[in-house]
Amino acid sequence: MPQLLRFQEKELCPVWRLAVVTVDADVATVRCSCPAVPCHGFEIDAMPLTARLLQQHLAWASSRMVDRLGIRGYQHNGDEIVVHGPTYSYQLDTRTFDPFSSLWEEAKRRGDPSLALPLVFEMDTVAPLRDYILWGRFFAFEWRVRSNLSESGVTVW
Ligand SMILES: [Zn+2]
Repeated sequence: MPQLLRFQEKELCPVWRLAVVTVDADVATVRCSCPAVPCHGFEIDAMPLTARLLQQHLAWASSRMVDRLGIRGYQHNGDEIVVHGPTYSYQLDTRTFDPFSSLWEEAKRRGDPSLALPLVFEMDTVAPLRDYILWGRFFAFEWRVRSNLSESGVTVW
């Protein structure tokens, strides 16, 4: 009689990680081909000389991304980090809010969405900032569940 074997183990897995970089709009002169699909972004090393300031900033941000993720156990796979953008800035450093804010609960309880208006903003009317998204491939130890029925294994989060 066949038996189902199921076991869990940590494995070094390739993962994508992203970081958001905010710059002044007048510096954001290089653009990827989004929303055209597929867009593979652009490489920091391949940027035009006229965008030197942006290039330096993105290079600094990508090395910081590698360092900070490294502390958390993500090992950069050495490939070029690619950049997408620019888009209107979310200004995550100043506009990040608590998703469990009592404003949501109050708005839900009273059935009045206008109570959550302080959390809403229009991206293209805020300060002239733009976001770039850095995409990098890393390795990380993640839990995998394997069984004798599947060779490839299934990732569980
Ligand atoms: Zn893109």
